[in-house]
Amino acid sequence: MTQHLTHIWRPVPGGRHAFPASALRNSLDDQVKSHCGEEVQAARLHDATEIDWIMEPTCNTCWKILKEG
Ligand SMILES: [Zn+2]
Repeated sequence: MTQHLTHIWRPVPGGRHAFPASALRNSLDDQVKSHCGEEVQAARLHDATEIDWIMEPTCNTCWKILKEG
């Protein structure tokens, strides 16, 4: 069964944010926006390292927005 993802979590400098899954299809130079309004380069969604995952704290704003839908 394939589950349709509506959002993805990615660590970017400043925190681990939730982005719309469609942001992965943006070209790497595009600016994409997290649910809390953080703008990052789309390339950042693709090259997160394991260290990034450990270092960056989860963004509470994104978490809350997703939870409250
Ligand atoms: Zn966020």
